[in-house]
Amino acid sequence: RHSIEPSFNANIKVVIRVRPIGNNDSEENVRSCVKVVNDQILVFDPSEEVDDFYFQGVRQKCRDMTKKAHKDLQFAFDKVFDTHATNEQVFCGSTKDIIGSLLDGYNCSVFVYGATGAGKTFTMLGTRDSPGITFHTMVELYNQMELLKEERKFEIGVSYMEVYNETVKDLLSPSLGQLHVREDPSYGVKVQGLTVQRPADASHLLSLLESGNRNRSQHPTDANAESSRSHAVFQVYIKMTSHPLENGKVNEGSVIKVVKLSMIDLAGSERGSATGFKGSRFAEGANINRSLLSLGNCINALADGLKHIPYRNSKLTRLLKDSLGGNCKTVMIANVSPAVLSYEDTYNTLKYADRAKKI
Ligand code: ADP
Ligand code: MG
Repeated sequence: RHSIEPSFNANIKVVIRVRPIGNNDSEENVRSCVKVVNDQILVFDPSEEVDDFYFQGVRQKCRDMTKKAHKDLQFAFDKVFDTHATNEQVFCGSTKDIIGSLLDGYNCSVFVYGATGAGKTFTMLGTRDSPGITFHTMVELYNQMELLKEERKFEIGVSYMEVYNETVKDLLSPSLGQLHVREDPSYGVKVQGLTVQRPADASHLLSLLESGNRNRSQHPTDANAESSRSHAVFQVYIKMTSHPLENGKVNEGSVIKVVKLSMIDLAGSERGSATGFKGSRFAEGANINRSLLSLGNCINALADGLKHIPYRNSKLTRLLKDSLGGNCKTVMIANVSPAVLSYEDTYNTLKYADRAKKI
């Protein structure tokens, strides 16, 4: 049923990252339920036991033959990163290319998807020693703008917000409280009062990112915590003016274009993922994250080639209406844990990612 081809469409790139098994997964029968075959193919729940890379020589117990058969499902993606991949390698194989698209005039969006603990925030933000893909992407953006500075003038704006329980909070000005999303006849969707900072250079931009991160709700170990149910939306607006005059003023024949890059650290997918693609498509409930569900429904509608895409059903999809589908470029990085105790989450994430290839 699932396609063994990578994405059909050049508008989306779907990437899988398998995180290392952590110390917390040290139960006796732990085995890996993901086998990375090569940089595009993985097998979920392989029938052949994965020989243990993770437990250095410690042999696994024989498989319990009374258990049901292994699924042994092969999936192909644009890129598959095994447990040892660094954030820089993930950047090179995922978002590096979209800087070119952005400067060619396309809106771009980058999502990290996966269950709580699967490695989304690690991928997006990383650590001091190993900065995440946002850092690398911003450095690349500034490098490429530098190369074009003779022919174009660039103006950069940055915003950072958190969508939690269908409310929007400004991470650059948390004291503003809840912000409203409005449809603006000339501008499209607009978040009223949202802070848009104008960084002077790359390091200023990165310090804005860091200060926004400090305002995020962070309780990384608690799957019920606010942080696992909130979406962090980092956006960079680039206003490009071609052939500026020497003094920086706009020329008669100048072309002005504004593009936007959105990088979204999504809420944990563990809730509601089972209902995302079957059963009631617009299910609602206390435990279901409306924005995450709506994103799944928009991806479904785009994948099916439908005319009507239900962007209006949630805050997140309203915010991303101009950055998802159409001529936009999307990178979806699905994070999975190979530990067998994440079996269902990993399976659901792979199915979701497989579906997204068809956008
Ligand atoms: P999520 O944001 O999906 O809930 P995190 O990114 O917070 O998950 O990851 C959970 C924990 O696992 C963190 O302590 C993180 O540092 C660690 N981790 C995740 N992915 C990796 C990786 N690829 N390499 C090393 N540590 C990782
Ligand atoms: Mg996180």
